[in-house]
Amino acid sequence: MAVLASGSSGNCTLVATERTKILVDAGLSRKETLRRLALIGESADSIQAILVTHEHWDHIGGLARLSQKNQIPVYIAPLTQQALPPETKLFAIENIQPGARFQIGDFTIDPFTIPHDAADPVAFRLSAEGVQIAVCTDLGYIPQNVKEHLRGSHCLIMESNHDVEMLRSGPYPWTVKQRVMGRTGHLSNHTVCEFLSSEDFDRQVRVLVLAHLSQQNNHPEIARLAAVAALESQNATGTKLTLASQTEPTEVFCF
Ligand SMILES: [Zn+2]
Ligand SMILES: [Zn+2]
Repeated sequence: MAVLASGSSGNCTLVATERTKILVDAGLSRKETLRRLALIGESADSIQAILVTHEHWDHIGGLARLSQKNQIPVYIAPLTQQALPPETKLFAIENIQPGARFQIGDFTIDPFTIPHDAADPVAFRLSAEGVQIAVCTDLGYIPQNVKEHLRGSHCLIMESNHDVEMLRSGPYPWTVKQRVMGRTGHLSNHTVCEFLSSEDFDRQVRVLVLAHLSQQNNHPEIARLAAVAALESQNATGTKLTLASQTEPTEVFCF
């Protein structure tokens, strides 16, 4: 697993076994996606599927070109597909439904509903070879169904979007602040830490990636230190914490 990019300018994550390689979201340009895949020794030729979480531009900005030019099928909920820009042409479409499990090669995949201001937003849990990875960004809070889907993960990619104080005092117009903080907006560092400090957080998580950090309303060190404190409070000393970046891929995590 490697997060190629995460943040409001583009999201893309690679999850792969030896035989099956999947991208979650395609929010970078095709060119930049190919460049970042090359940085971690991969190429788009071996990607078998792109899973789409929702239609916001930072998740689909490179989708059409990447899908068409590299002939990669797109797995997308019908309502999300309808909400794509009208000119969007994709190589092939496989419709998925939140709550309906499906299989791609080695992976068993569970898309599950998240509270976000999009047509039919989902997060994904992917399982293969006894390893479970969850990609969970763009949600206003963490409802019970999400907690249940995250349980048992060995790798958790979790949004830690903003610091509430930085957002409150920052430059965004009030309506945008309301949107980000709302029930269908984005997770704050504080909400993530509440989750990490609770019984709902599974201490078997080996890799925790904080993702979708706001460049305006967060600072990586603030998010990191808060998460470290929360993990320590839970004695989750076996959990490796890392931060996804907008500008470069994370390391490649192997399980
Ligand atoms: Zn986003
Ligand atoms: Zn979004």
